Amino acid sequence: MADSSGLGKKSTECPKCSSDTQEDTLCVCSCKIRVSSTSLEHVSPVSSVGSLERLASSERKKEKITSRDTAPGKDLFSRTSNVERKTSQQQWGRGNFTEGKVPHIRMDDGAAIQEFYAFGRILGQGSFGMVIEAINKETETKWAIKKVNKEKAGSSAVKLLEREVNILKSVKHEHIIHLEQVFETPKRMYLVMELCEDGELKRILDRKGRFSETETRWIIQSLASAIAYLHDKDIVHRDLKLENIMVKSSFIDANNEMNLNIKVTDFGLAVKKQGRSEAMLQTTCGTPIYMAPEVINAHDYSQQCDIWSIGVIMYMLLCGGPPFWANSEDKLFELIRKGELRFRDPVWDSISDCAKSALKQLLKVDPAHRITAKELLDTQWITGNTLSSARPINVLEMMKEWKNNPGSDEENTVDQK
Ligand code: ADP
Repeated sequence: MADSSGLGKKSTECPKCSSDTQEDTLCVCSCKIRVSSTSLEHVSPVSSVGSLERLASSERKKEKITSRDTAPGKDLFSRTSNVERKTSQQQWGRGNFTEGKVPHIRMDDGAAIQEFYAFGRILGQGSFGMVIEAINKETETKWAIKKVNKEKAGSSAVKLLEREVNILKSVKHEHIIHLEQVFETPKRMYLVMELCEDGELKRILDRKGRFSETETRWIIQSLASAIAYLHDKDIVHRDLKLENIMVKSSFIDANNEMNLNIKVTDFGLAVKKQGRSEAMLQTTCGTPIYMAPEVINAHDYSQQCDIWSIGVIMYMLLCGGPPFWANSEDKLFELIRKGELRFRDPVWDSISDCAKSALKQLLKVDPAHRITAKELLDTQWITGNTLSSARPINVLEMMKEWKNNPGSDEENTVDQK
């Protein structure tokens, strides 16, 4: 859908990242290569965060809005709002992520990272640093290295980066960006990540206009599988959008459908929820005989914000525009709160009722009624199975349902009318 207001336009200027393209002269230590005069540590995510957080904490109070929020180039639909973050941070602790096997190499001083990686083209400019293609000289494999100047980025940005690093260290999924290793100096951080040669999904959508229903199904299936995995680990991404989905590779199949291998990236705003027992202690403390039903039944639907985002992404992939659109933020929020989903554009005529039903389940205003990532994977739209678990499991049940509701789903029927 056209952005006539100009709110969707992006500025090319980045206020946080200077044009400093100088490579560090790092003294890189690597466990498998050689140890130089600098100290070599495998820093646990927790200890790394601890030290840097102390550094950040004094400045944190001063900064109400992170520089990321104010960066130009983040438009109404792509910029990260701090609206949700305020409440989420009250709910969730930072959590200790399981230590992964990602080498985190800390150096006092910079040295020749170029001894191990040959730097190539710039892949993109992020909010706090640039991402450069690099070849591992030993293995001759290609990587994307995110280089961040911690001083220039500021403490808030460093915090987001550390959060991203800690979460990436603790996850392993075919549709989540893989972090290979981290180099850190007091001034800079280098994240060696798997390379996504086909760039952002947003760019491909912009070029194509929209994806076919089959293409969309494959993308959403991969995305839902990544999010189901994260939610299973109590990790909430909180910033899912087209710009944060990278495409590692793609091909066009015999039916002229585009097959994309997608990777979820940018875990700067992600959080790990408190362990269930810890959360229960906080929420259900009290003497049982006085306990209200809503306290006993307390459910945490906080991860459901990711599901809403999947709904918005799916809608945009299918028709090329967002489900809710207004030329001011207030009006937009009003529409989102109402959550009235419309399929007016003629594009929707050729889209199946199953897809529309999935969208309605994803974009339910009440998070308690919103489908989960696992349930999405089990919908008829994804599985193609007309006897998916949401449906009656035996013939008698099916007959009952048919008797009560001949035709399709209630929601779809309303839509067709
Ligand atoms: P931001 O700070 O805005 O979230 P990033 O710093 O993560 O962005 O990335 C900046 C740009 O670099 C992205 O827009 C993307 O085009 C490119 N990029 C990031 N990660 C990769 C990757 N793993 N492979 C290829 N390109 C990447």
